[in-house]
Formats: sequence, C-alpha cells, structure tokens
Amino acid sequence: MLDCRLGRHDEAALALDELCNEARIHADERLLAWVLVERARARSLLRDRGCCAELLQEAALLARRLGLARLETMALTNLGMLHGQDGEPVPYAHYTCEALAVARAAGDDEGVAHCLSNLGGALSAGGQLDEALRCYDECLPLARNGGWPYIEALCLAGRGGLRFERGDPDGGLADYDASERILDQLGKRSQVVHQHLLQCAYLVRAGRADAAMQRALGCIELARQHGFQTMEATGQERLAEALEALGRFPDALRALRKSLEIQRGALDSRLAEAERAAARSQKALAAHRRAQWERERRVESEERSRALAAALIEREHLRKDLIRASRTDALTQLANRRAFDEGMGWTLAQSKRRYRPVALILCDLDHFKAINDSFGHAAGDRVLARVAARLAGRVRAGDLVARWGGEEFAVLLPDTELGGALALAEALRQAIADAPLTTAAGPLNISLSLGVAVTRPDMLDADALLRSADLALYEAKARGRNRVVAARGEGQGAARGRGHIDRDSRSGA
Ligand code: GH3
Ligand code: MG
Ligand code: MG
Repeated sequence: MLDCRLGRHDEAALALDELCNEARIHADERLLAWVLVERARARSLLRDRGCCAELLQEAALLARRLGLARLETMALTNLGMLHGQDGEPVPYAHYTCEALAVARAAGDDEGVAHCLSNLGGALSAGGQLDEALRCYDECLPLARNGGWPYIEALCLAGRGGLRFERGDPDGGLADYDASERILDQLGKRSQVVHQHLLQCAYLVRAGRADAAMQRALGCIELARQHGFQTMEATGQERLAEALEALGRFPDALRALRKSLEIQRGALDSRLAEAERAAARSQKALAAHRRAQWERERRVESEERSRALAAALIEREHLRKDLIRASRTDALTQLANRRAFDEGMGWTLAQSKRRYRPVALILCDLDHFKAINDSFGHAAGDRVLARVAARLAGRVRAGDLVARWGGEEFAVLLPDTELGGALALAEALRQAIADAPLTTAAGPLNISLSLGVAVTRPDMLDADALLRSADLALYEAKARGRNRVVAARGEGQGAARGRGHIDRDSRSGA
C-alpha cells in the first residue's frame, strides 16, 4: 500500500498478489477479503480492468459471507465505479444499488451518502434524471450533517450537471459554485478545474456563450497556475467553442491553435520525460550488467586465488617433506649422516663460542652380520629399526641421534662433560643388552659397543672428535664388545669387564 501511495503501482500490485496468496494459504479469510479490495485498487491503477472486476466480485462475496458490511459496500461501490469509468451506466447503477442496500441495512450513513452520490451519477448518465435528482436530494443533507464535505461536493456537482440538463443553468451554476468552494477548501485543485470545464460545455449548450467564455478563461488561468497542461488545452478548446458561439471566429481559431500548441508542448515534455526514463533504465541496466560482470570476475578470481593458495600450501608441504626426507634415514627414521654432519658443525660452533664441552658417542652393533646370516636381511632391517627406536627413546631433547652407517649409530650431546656422556652411553648399552628384542624367530639377544669422546680446548673440530670416538669404539670391540670405552685422555682407569665402562688407554691412533 505504501508502494501504491509512492506511485510504484506495479511493485504494490506484486506485493499484494503475494499477500493474497499468503492469506489463502493460511486460510485467513478476513485478511483475504481486505487484501482483495486493495489488490483490485492496485490492478485498476495498472488499468488491468478484467482482473480488477474479478477481485472485487470475490471480495464482495467473501465480505457478505463474513458479515463485513462496510467492506462489501466498498467492493460493490468500486465494482460499480469500474463500469462507470467504462461508460456503462446500467451495471454502474446496478452495483451501486446493491452497495446502497448493504450500507442501509448496516446503518452505515457515510456509505449510504457515498452510494447515493454515485447512484445519482449513474442514473443521470443513463438518462433517468428524476431518479438521479432524488438521489442527490437525499444525499446532500446526509453528507452535510454527517460532516463528509467531499461527498457533499461531488453530490453538488452531480446535481449541478443535472440542473443544466434539465434547462436550469442558474441552478446548475449555483450547485457547481458551492461544490467548487468545498473542493477548493479541501485542496482538490484539479477537480475544481475539471468542474470549470464541464460548466463551460453546459453553458455553451445553454446558449450562454459569454458566461462560458468567462469560465473558460478562469479555467485556463487556474490550469496554467497549477501546471495542468492537458486541462489547459481543453480549456482553450472550451474557449474556442464559446468564441465560435459568439461569432468571434478568428479568436476561436487562435484559441484552437493555442490548444494544439499546449498539447504539443505537453506531448513534447512527456516524450522528453519518457526519453529520460529510458536513458535512466538503460543506465541502470548497464550498471546492473557491469556489477554482474564484476561479481562473476570476483568469484572467478577468488576461486583462482583459493586454488593458488592451496597449491602453494601443497608445494610448501612437499618442500618440507623433501627436506625432511633428505635429512632422515628411511629405515630407522633417525637423522641421516648428512643431517648429523650439519648438526655437529652447528653444535660445535655454538659450544666453541660458549666454551662448553660437546660429547660424542659412536655405537656399533656387535656381530650383526651373524643376524643377517641367520635370519635374513629383512629381519636384520627390522632389528636395526627397533634398536634405533630404543636409542632415540633414551636421549634428552637437545641430543641428536643419527644413523651413522650400516649398523652404526652416533649420538651427539651438546653441553655434556665426559661423566654425563659415559653415563648415557652405559644406559644405551643396557637398553640394548638387557632386554632381548622380540622377533618373529623368538627373543633375540644383541649388544652394542660404544666409544665416547668429549671436546677439549685442543680438540675442537669435528674430525678430531669423530676420530677420537671411533678409536674408542674400536677399542671396545677389541676388548670383547658390549662395552663402553672412553677416548684416551678423557678418563682414568684401565679396561674393565664386559658390561662396564672401559677407559681408552692407547697411546693414540
Ligand atoms: P662386529 O661386532 O665386529 O661389528 O661385527 P659385525 O658383524 O657387526 O660387523 P661387520 O662389519 O662384519 O658386518 C656388518 C654387517 O652389517 C654387514 C652388513 O651386511 C650389515 N649391514 C649393514 N647395513 C645393513 C642394513 O642396512 N641392513 C642389514 N640388514 N644389514 C646391514
Ligand atoms: Mg660396523
Ligand atoms: Mg658391527
């Protein structure tokens, strides 16, 4: 309804269509009845006459069934007026009579007054002048006493026309004047001008060309003041008729020309407005298309960047996997030789700067060849993996365990003195020797030999440390295996028995 008042009739009609469907779906008949009338009004503004009539008929029937007298009156009145607009006085009068009967039965005086005023119009249009006059005469006091000035004004105008028809121009003029005073007060300017035009025609027909001319001039002036171009043009035509009746043919011709000029002007401005509207919609359409295009591009580019981001993440994962793989031993999942070399270089550099010792343990499985020979290479592999897991499970977080070679492991211990390194080496030895590995072929006893070396101020490079630990390991093997040996000069005491820590007593490699 708001759309309707804003002049957006098609939007209003669509909204009301929807509301109507809602009301039907929810079987809300009261709402439906009211909406049907509003919908009919919107449809009539869209000049959809057929639909409008159907809606009003349905509304009237529904209102009767629900006992909504005022709504029934309204629907029937509008139905009558629809015929009136189409120049069909008989159905106009018929529906208006029905509406009147409903309003009377309901004691709705305003409805009665409105219907009487309309019925007067319908009957005069159908040539039933006496009946029409009776309607107006009944309506006027009702409207006046009820305080419905608009109905009173319509009624007066209707009666004025009737009086002209019946050859009483003075009575007609008096009624029209009274009507126009009310309409003027109500601010209904266009209706005032319209009534002026009607009076001009009546006055010419009544042979009062002078008065007609005066009315026409007044009408033209009013129409010009308020910008009613079409009525101004009609006013010029009425003026021409009056002038013609007065025998002032050149003036009449001038007035006709003026009328044409105004009509052309009105048409030109309507055309210009239509062109502006077309340009506006063209622009809106172009903007809409551009927005659509941009939306689509945005969606596309968002999809592309999402795919790109996913590909970059995937590539980063792959890169990290590759780096990890290049630094990991595939069989044991420990650091490989390359990662160990890097770690050792970095750790030694750090410890040199901070004057801290670094310890290295080299471990070699004892008689591992025999395991391969007895159980096969694949079983040997599994043993290597299990030993690696045990070793890795024993060291501290900052220590680095690596697979040094075939069945050899290296453990780098930053910030560690010889005592700590020997203790850890012994723990590693025990971790392997004291708990047999469970294999498919049953429990398997295996042992490790370990060589331990620690950096000294005179031995700070990786090669020296490795050589030292390797010599100690060699010594451990030589002394019977399954033991820990400290590199020479890094502890005291002689070789001890199996299962103990031996001190390297050699004089160097
Ligand atoms: P020792 O106590 O003197 O160290 O005796 P050992 O048998 O352990 O030493 P040796 O150097 O004679 O043999 C090492 C064996 O380790 C030989 C080799 O086949 C085996 N080996 C090396 N790398 C792997 C591997 O990745 N998988 C398996 N299954 N065996 C390996
Ligand atoms: Mg070996
Ligand atoms: Mg070995």
